[in-house]
Amino acid sequence: MVDYSIKSIGVLTSGGDAPGMNAAIRSVTRAAIFNNMRVFGIYRGYKGLISNEIEEFKTNSVSNIIQQGGTILKTARSAEFMDPEGRKVAFENMQKHGIDALVVIGGDGSLTGASIFGNEYDIPIVGLPGTIDNDLNGTDVTIGYDTALNTIMQSVDKIRDTATSHERLFFIEVMGRNCGFLALNSAIAAGAEAAIIPEISLKKDQLGELIEQGFRKSKNSSIILVTEGEITGGALQLAERVKQEYPQYDVRVSILGHLQRGGSPSAQDRILASRMGIAAIQALLENQRNVMIGIRENEIDYVPFKRAIKKEREISEELREVLLISSI
Ligand code: ATP
Repeated sequence: MVDYSIKSIGVLTSGGDAPGMNAAIRSVTRAAIFNNMRVFGIYRGYKGLISNEIEEFKTNSVSNIIQQGGTILKTARSAEFMDPEGRKVAFENMQKHGIDALVVIGGDGSLTGASIFGNEYDIPIVGLPGTIDNDLNGTDVTIGYDTALNTIMQSVDKIRDTATSHERLFFIEVMGRNCGFLALNSAIAAGAEAAIIPEISLKKDQLGELIEQGFRKSKNSSIILVTEGEITGGALQLAERVKQEYPQYDVRVSILGHLQRGGSPSAQDRILASRMGIAAIQALLENQRNVMIGIRENEIDYVPFKRAIKKEREISEELREVLLISSI
């Protein structure tokens, strides 16, 4: 009888780094060893799978990393993995090391690649949502999102001091690509006046509305959070528009950039990553494949890759209302 049980797994981080990825690597490694599997750390995501940067991990390979931001496995983007030839080499390298299954920690691009690769070579692959953007479906939160949110909130608090002292209008640009979670929730948490987010920019001119309202004249400073990217136009473009049309406003821009990705992960992200890592190994033991580990109402869930990476993720109307009412 052929033995299909998984004896050896590979773990990699791919796409943008996110705080909590190390906690996830640690938990995946230890859960696999706990279940008598061998573990291979694959460096630099799919790139390292193709260039064979693979090393066996023991329990102490992941000691003292839960508190560190970034990823000890490094991360990368790999154009070669988009190509069937590149994926063939990746598969051959897995075979060389006797790796039966993969745990991929990354965002929607990484999980798209995982889905294609898993189907192509019939490999059990489980994904963990590792991205600060919170832009995956089927999970309330992603690993890294909470830490990034806290980093943004603290930065906005600091900018508020200067905004108030100078009576300025600040546009603060945050990450998120096509997803407004970071901008909307950090606006609520930092007591900002508004958030300009892609989900709404597609439907209406949010800046136009804010101008019409006079940026809430009763206040002596205004802070508007803006999601990066073409859909919103980004903070610089919005500020330019205000400067041209309303020279009376003292407008400034702050682009938070990469500082949003860094730092020691929050307790919530460490716990989330630890739970998801163990669930990933559990999923493999249950013969699950092509699923992402999600968390819904504080319960672990298995989300098919297809559903997880579906583009449209609704923004909560309730949250928008909280911001609107609390900032009058
Ligand atoms: P983040 O959301 O933080 O940017 P991500 O995982 O979405 O992370 P991407 O750069 O989109 O980051 O994807 C990471 C890698 O996944 C790519 O460099 C590529 O190697 C692989 N990948 C993405 N899409 C595909 C695809 N259609 N086919 C094969 N591989 C893919």
